[in-house]
Amino acid sequence: MAIMPPTSGDDANQSAALADVNLFALDIALQEAIKREGGQAAQARLIRFGELAGSAEASEHSRLANDHPPRLRTHDDKGRRLDIVEFHPSWHWLMSASADEGLHCGAWQHLDGENSLRSGANVERAGTFFLASQMEAGHCCPITMTNAAIPVIRDAPAVAEAWLPRLTRPQYDRRFLPLARKTAAMIGMGLTERQGGTDVRANTTQAVADGEGGPGTPYLVTGHKWFMSAPMCDAFLVLAQAPGGLSCFLLPRFRPDDTVNSLRLQRLKDKLGNRSNASSEVDFEAAHAVLLGEEGRGVATIIEMVTHTRLDCAVASAALMRRAVTAALHHARQRQVYGRPLVAQPVMACVLADLVLEVEAATALVFRLARSFDRVADARAAAWRRLMTPVTKYWVCKVASPVIGEAMECLGGNGYVEEGGMPRLYREAPVNSIWEGSGNVMALDVLRVLEKEPEALETVLDDLSLAAGDDTHLKAALERIRTMLHEPRLIEMRARALLEGLALTAAGCIIRAHAPQVVGDAFIAARLSGVPRFTYGQGLEWSDTKAILERALPAA
Ligand SMILES: Cc1cc2nc3c(=O)[nH]c(=O)nc-3n(C[C@H](O)[C@H](O)[C@H](O)COP(=O)(O)OP(=O)(O)OC[C@H]3O[C@@H](n4cnc5c(N)ncnc54)[C@H](O)[C@@H]3O)c2cc1C
Repeated sequence: MAIMPPTSGDDANQSAALADVNLFALDIALQEAIKREGGQAAQARLIRFGELAGSAEASEHSRLANDHPPRLRTHDDKGRRLDIVEFHPSWHWLMSASADEGLHCGAWQHLDGENSLRSGANVERAGTFFLASQMEAGHCCPITMTNAAIPVIRDAPAVAEAWLPRLTRPQYDRRFLPLARKTAAMIGMGLTERQGGTDVRANTTQAVADGEGGPGTPYLVTGHKWFMSAPMCDAFLVLAQAPGGLSCFLLPRFRPDDTVNSLRLQRLKDKLGNRSNASSEVDFEAAHAVLLGEEGRGVATIIEMVTHTRLDCAVASAALMRRAVTAALHHARQRQVYGRPLVAQPVMACVLADLVLEVEAATALVFRLARSFDRVADARAAAWRRLMTPVTKYWVCKVASPVIGEAMECLGGNGYVEEGGMPRLYREAPVNSIWEGSGNVMALDVLRVLEKEPEALETVLDDLSLAAGDDTHLKAALERIRTMLHEPRLIEMRARALLEGLALTAAGCIIRAHAPQVVGDAFIAARLSGVPRFTYGQGLEWSDTKAILERALPAA
């Protein structure tokens, strides 16, 4: 399908709807990243899913799921507890679309004989997730959490046997039923409490053994979670204080005897964005749960889940940016001002090209990161994953809001109006930066790498030095990073600068090596040449903006 050409007359110089487009086929940077990072086997699948994700039908379901947010039903008409959330049918359509594609389990579906990942599995899944996030971001929350919980559950044989077969089935079963009666299942997570989200050590939720205690045995959990999204998931990984310290539990919606577990949904959050998704406040009243890992090892047990969700936050942010910038460029090609298309106005061409460069960088970084999740046995990949997960999550999620804001402005007043879809993207963007470890938390995580795993930093810097070759600006950027590291007294104050430097340098190296020269030159000139800048549309006076824009959205 094609983008509809503008019609004259009563369309009054308005651009045509960007509907029924194949989000994968349109995206050259995405296609190249998938191929480069090892996901080329997924080409046909991505083309197929790109068609669905960009369809007018998907777009309508996305609108409806957000215009009709979920509703909490705490009690029935006779006052009995229900604790269920009702969703618009369009939410279920979106969940089916992504679950049928295996997005909630795709990386784990085809483990080979040694229980290791299929080559390219995470890159392939990141590709489909990139498309699903452009389709509609809210429903991606339970999809992400389920995928990320699987490696934690896989390491707990007592629960894996019952849960894994249903978690890894590419289906969506919306019914509120005990696990044994469902065809497929989803997982959420409950870490954050009122007195502390980042600092989970402050968690006060208590767990006592309901028997002997120990890994794989039942406990009773009592307390609250201030944020627990997607409460209609079938189970949640939660942190609670057991006698041996903060511990990780699988807390299902139903007890083993098939009675409804005592999760009391108190409220749904009234959120800035992410409105199709439900985020609850919940009390646990001696709720049945099973201990995963050892008592006192809660953070160590759940950390693998958090690492995977951080990858998805970055992929989703890159996707939101891509969607917004595509819409801006499409509009600017068709809207005429002073007798020329907007895109032909030099100031606008610089703004658009600058936004495209940000999307190029974000795309390069997230797929490079996804590859490091695929190569678990490779020490260099492990170093990249350890250091560049917080770096990539930090930078990509942080730039999403300003990029989408600027893209919105390219559409003028239309950008600010709900029907065009830009406000939804804009409202969605900040959440990826807040949840799963906010900006400062990512910075502190990198400082932890410097202190405890300095060899990971050295490995990544070696890789970047090699990739920088004799590019003067890239070499200078690396030198600035090394200078920062020589001042340990100041490093905490400079942590954000360090993360930004690492992200931009890494993106610059990837783009320099793999994107067309015009893109590499422009990216490095505008971001790494040392000229200060705070808004978009600067530093590209020597760049071939036309070529950059043509690559971002082929005019034909
Ligand atoms: C829409 C939405 C859905 C959510 N869903 C879930 C869910 O399903 N499950 C769940 O467990 N949580 C969920 N959360 C909660 C989210 O993960 C937390 O809000 C987040 O981790 C931050 O915790 P907090 O709100 O307690 O803020 P705080 O921990 O109080 O942090 C406040 C600010 O301080 C900064 N900060 C914290 N520590 C430091 C430090 N040492 N130095 C410098 N700065 C610091 C943080 O970066 C942040 O900017 C959700 C949040 C939102 C918005």
